[in-house]
Amino acid sequence: MNVVKIAIIGAGFSGLGAAIKLRQEGIDDFVILDRGQNFGGTWRDNTYPGAACDVPSHLYSYSFAPNPTWSRSFSEQPEIHRYINNVAAKNDLESYTRWNTEVTGIVWNEADGQWVITTSAGEYRANFVIAGVGPLCEPKLPDLKGIDDFAGEIFHSARWNHDYNLEGKRVAVIGTGASAIQIIPELAKKVGRLDVYQRTAAWVLPRLDRPYSNTESWAFKNIPGFQTAARAGIYASRELVSFGLTHAPGVLAPAKVLGKQNIARGISDRKLRAAVTPKWKVGCKRILLSNTYYPALNQANVDLVTDPIKEVTTTGIVTADGVARDVDAIVVATGFHVTDSPAFEHIIGKDGSSLAQVWESTGINAYKGTTVHGFPNLFLMVGPATGLGHTSIIYMIESQLNYLVDYLKLQRKYDIARVEVRSDVQHDYNVGIQKNLKSSVWETGGCASWYKDVFGNITTLWPGFTFRYRHITRKFDLAAYDTSSAAATGARTSAAPVTSHPATETVTS
Ligand SMILES: Cc1cc2nc3c(=O)[nH]c(=O)nc-3n(C[C@H](O)[C@H](O)[C@H](O)COP(=O)(O)OP(=O)(O)OC[C@H]3O[C@@H](n4cnc5c(N)ncnc54)[C@H](O)[C@@H]3O)c2cc1C
Repeated sequence: MNVVKIAIIGAGFSGLGAAIKLRQEGIDDFVILDRGQNFGGTWRDNTYPGAACDVPSHLYSYSFAPNPTWSRSFSEQPEIHRYINNVAAKNDLESYTRWNTEVTGIVWNEADGQWVITTSAGEYRANFVIAGVGPLCEPKLPDLKGIDDFAGEIFHSARWNHDYNLEGKRVAVIGTGASAIQIIPELAKKVGRLDVYQRTAAWVLPRLDRPYSNTESWAFKNIPGFQTAARAGIYASRELVSFGLTHAPGVLAPAKVLGKQNIARGISDRKLRAAVTPKWKVGCKRILLSNTYYPALNQANVDLVTDPIKEVTTTGIVTADGVARDVDAIVVATGFHVTDSPAFEHIIGKDGSSLAQVWESTGINAYKGTTVHGFPNLFLMVGPATGLGHTSIIYMIESQLNYLVDYLKLQRKYDIARVEVRSDVQHDYNVGIQKNLKSSVWETGGCASWYKDVFGNITTLWPGFTFRYRHITRKFDLAAYDTSSAAATGARTSAAPVTSHPATETVTS
């Protein structure tokens, strides 16, 4: 058994960022547990052809680890993966990390004031857990009749089988979301025939992607403030989109025009154009960016199939209209378990209920997307209501890290051993979140999306400007929490009240 002060689960942007902050705070008694074999999370696992970020790299990277050598505006997976591993190396984090370590249980032990963490590589105990298990980490397979009987090759976009040669083959891609629209143009270049199965069309806007010129690269490296200014410019333009998403969907009308122009530019056939034109408002589902997706659909070797899939047979896919299309391989690009991540079943709180069970009855929610009543000493990275449809999640992760760092300072100051958000505070906070969501395009835009949980509530997205979230996480508001000191570990009494901190905060944007 290994005992540490803090266990970080996950070695993606969240876990790595947390580890860097711990080291900066002088904390070395921590471990990072990850089932993979190197840093990167999303960017280690998603190696499909065409994988790239959809927020420009100067913003989709840590503010505290700027990279002046990004080769293009929207970097591809290998470059992002390299960046993350370079940051980890610079901060000397390899020795803190346990690879090939699948976490199977995270159980709070009230008597000991510890989390008991069971893994594929033994047991860990930690006073505090930072769960950076990823919002889009667990591949979701479609629930299709016969899918297990398919005799050809089948894999999920996030588990690409590079050993299988798709050259000249008959291939089906199920899904037309963010990953699919990156994969399809790459496959269209080399497969014999490609069937694209679309359930709902997405708005796909032009992607302002280009390599940086030598002069720009020189400037990023040598002109003080140039890179910061570029980052700020990208951030500001993306926040304007946020206003449209959350308050005034009408503001996004020009985006619809751009989307329609993108369709008209890429596709010549009127019927196909109609089939890829969404029926819902821009922003209701994630806005996608591509210059190559529509031209790929326009290719002679590519077919868009809009009839619902009836079943998968041993040789291919049959749609509701009775048409059978045989294929050699199926690429499943149907996204991830977001609101039903298995990680939520593994985390068991003070009452013996899992996070999944608690959320089944209350709906998915947390305080500031980070802490949950009943789960002491636990920080969820990219927790409920912190997701974004328009800008870099790393901005939110860094906000959470500020909150974490401020907590660690207070923890030391007041010798806190146990911290648990008050249920009334968590409740009120989430009433504010849901109120702010009412006017958002996600509620009013006329789509069904993975943003919603089984109750139909939007539990994944931050409703407002991201700088509002930065503001409410700048300080750890102890008044929102029940705490007990090290001397009283296990007792439910509060530590000395901290009055210098703001009382609870609700969200208004
Ligand atoms: C293809 C793709 C493109 C994306 N592009 C963007 C973008 O452009 N902009 C943007 O803002 N966001 C994007 N995202 C969202 C992306 O998930 C986040 O930006 C970010 O990478 C999340 O980092 P994370 O560390 O929180 O999670 P992840 O990167 O998912 O890392 C989670 C880590 O936890 C580990 N883990 C999980 N469960 C366990 C367990 N039980 N035991 C042990 N280890 C475990 C995993 O192995 C993984 O290493 C994209 C997502 C995908 C899938």
